[in-house]
Amino acid sequence: MSETRAFVAFGANLGNRLRTFRDAVRRLDRTDGVAVCAMSRLYETAPVGGPGGQEPYYNAAVELRTELTPEALLDALQEIEAAHQRTRTVAWGPRTLDLDLLFYGGLIMETPRLTIPHPMMRQRRFVLRPLADIAPGAVDPVTGQTVANLLAALPLHDIEDVVAISKDWR
Ligand code: ATP
Ligand code: CA
Ligand code: CA
Repeated sequence: MSETRAFVAFGANLGNRLRTFRDAVRRLDRTDGVAVCAMSRLYETAPVGGPGGQEPYYNAAVELRTELTPEALLDALQEIEAAHQRTRTVAWGPRTLDLDLLFYGGLIMETPRLTIPHPMMRQRRFVLRPLADIAPGAVDPVTGQTVANLLAALPLHDIEDVVAISKDWR
């Protein structure tokens, strides 16, 4: 079976964020048909959207090689979220772990359960900045733009809200 290069965004603002991220990388890498092959720096970021008064987030991005279909990969991501007691109450509310599938090769798809590329990623510095660490030249199949170009096109008002805090956190 052939392998697809996929990218996943990590987010967390409840509990021990670093321990959660490390555990999630381990679980992803141990998933059958998934290998983690690159990790971004670790970022601390100001919350965007959702209720006010939230704690800061950790964000990161990882590159995978996978034999799983997009749906099966989302199942695996949601299992790992569930293992960290992720609950969904308020939209964009605080969470122990959020794993979003950003790119799956050059695939474009839209179903009730899964939109690829992730629909909000182009507006989010906390997604594009980590992704640009590991895949600046990856091309968004919808816009034809590279990740580096999408990042450079963002308004600068939130540049101080996304700060790299660690290079090697695995
Ligand atoms: P956002 O999607 O704006 O980042 P969120 O991550 O807080 O918000 P969730 O509650 O984690 O939203 O996910 C809601 C639903 O989004 C999931 O149940 C899943 O089916 C769907 N979804 C659609 N496309 C994707 C994707 N590319 N990656 C992850 N989930 C997706
Ligand atoms: Ca998300
Ligand atoms: Ca999500």
